[in-house]
Amino acid sequence: MENIVALCKRRGFLFQSSEIYGGLNGFWDYGPLGVLLKRNVKDAWWNDMIMSHNELVISGGAPGTYEMTGLDCTIIMHPQIWKCSGHYDLFHDFMVDCRETKKRYRYDHILGRFVLAASPATRVFVTTLETENTQAALDEAALKFFGLRKKDLDKLQWEGEIMSLPDAMRSAGGAANVLGPDAKTPDTLTEPREFNLMFKTTIGALGTEEDTAFLRPETAQGIFANFKNVCDSTRLRVPFGIAQVGKSFRNEITPRNFTFRSREFEQMEIEFFCHPSQSAQWYAYWRDRRFAWYIEMGLAGERLQLREHGATELSHYSCGTADIEYQFPFLPPGEFGELEGIAHRGDFDLRSHMEGKLVKEGCELVLEKLPNGQPKHRGSGKDLTYYDDLTKERFTPHVIEPSAGADRATLAFLCEAYQVDTAPDEKGQPQERVYLKFHPRLAPIKAAVFPLVKKDGMPEIATEIYGELKKQFSVFYDDKSAVGRRYRRQDEIGTPFCITVDGQTVQDGTVTIRDRDTLKQERIKRDDLVKELSQRLG
Ligand code: ATP
Repeated sequence: MENIVALCKRRGFLFQSSEIYGGLNGFWDYGPLGVLLKRNVKDAWWNDMIMSHNELVISGGAPGTYEMTGLDCTIIMHPQIWKCSGHYDLFHDFMVDCRETKKRYRYDHILGRFVLAASPATRVFVTTLETENTQAALDEAALKFFGLRKKDLDKLQWEGEIMSLPDAMRSAGGAANVLGPDAKTPDTLTEPREFNLMFKTTIGALGTEEDTAFLRPETAQGIFANFKNVCDSTRLRVPFGIAQVGKSFRNEITPRNFTFRSREFEQMEIEFFCHPSQSAQWYAYWRDRRFAWYIEMGLAGERLQLREHGATELSHYSCGTADIEYQFPFLPPGEFGELEGIAHRGDFDLRSHMEGKLVKEGCELVLEKLPNGQPKHRGSGKDLTYYDDLTKERFTPHVIEPSAGADRATLAFLCEAYQVDTAPDEKGQPQERVYLKFHPRLAPIKAAVFPLVKKDGMPEIATEIYGELKKQFSVFYDDKSAVGRRYRRQDEIGTPFCITVDGQTVQDGTVTIRDRDTLKQERIKRDDLVKELSQRLG
């Protein structure tokens, strides 16, 4: 992972935000190549999900035809949206502070195990944060606490399994003697406290409590809030999907793992509205379609998996959720990180925005009420049901939500693309080669154009070719240093093709085109370049 992070900085994919001032934790800037890569990821998603979707034919695996459209909503919306969606009340994490070290931890991220030592005869719940080898970290912490050496490991009597601090607190009436992850003495952790993940801001100049608004933590709610507008202003018929790409903000407590968990990030979300009787089929369709998309885009190996949630993991409104996950190199072996969640949300969202915040009572979703019987958070009162004029039926559509992160997808494509092999250098000597094996659609630069040497009419021809290709593709011109070096520079940023103008070009109008992955060079007619590149880029 360090190599990937270093390459990202060196070649201008990603920089830490505000780096000249020491950086800002959880915020990342995309550099000159990063912006192209991420834009290609978003464009591929937008194109494949919306623009190239043909509503007249049944797509493979779909239960019927459907339509797709897009939206671009504001980041700041009416605060009531977040109250009805549940984010205002539910979108929080529990935190604990250590009075000794002044460190703050996510309550459920603290892992530990009960341990006894003969002298002093004490039972302690020793803790650590998630690491590659949690037991080894616990051994170390326990030895330190009891003042023992490594060779005394057998003096520790471990009890039960490793568990999270919340589980330990629940077990056997709670855990006394909790030793915080970095503390020297037990019982220095505070009670868990709630912490809302939404960023607050103020609208207007007065700054009173009524002017408080939130930066959206997801793009989805803007789509639900506009459901009626879209139905009224288009001739879309259910089933249809509305897509949106845009920034979301979460005041994550522990931003980490490069861009994987950031505080400002981009989402690519679809809310797909369908008849309740068909929603299970549409859920299965979107789950499989979205999984197939990542494979098409190059995450074809074992590092990608589709994981269906078990009943206990489902959100209170969901009747089915699957995560598309990737085994990022920064995660401990065997662990996967979420790229996208596909959720069957039933009619929860549209009903919430009609009626007010809902809660589950048995199997039913009901309006959450205050002790005085008033709704806890009032809905809009607008009719968000759908009338099917063919079947003469009025119903509240069910929603399937494929919700992807543009930054996590970009990071996964970067990690998957990173390759090291051996290739001959300009003197024919085998040398280690680092290259990014991006799918051609995602590669920031599609082709580089080189004159072999800066004389004999070659730069003139190469400049002309560059000008022609630039009208259609993202291309790069390079005439500096030996041609072998230039190839390496392009390999390192994932450019799929390098086009070289040499002595023969001057004579017969052919150029060489070199493939990044196979290193094969072929001669083709200069006049065929646009056609050839279009074909190869797919
Ligand atoms: P996690 O459990 O990893 O925090 P989540 O389940 O809260 O993720 P969702 O609310 O389902 O995430 O958001 C949909 C998608 O948005 C995620 O699959 C992920 O790709 C992206 N995403 C969510 N939070 C972040 C973040 N802090 N940084 C980058 N991307 C994020």
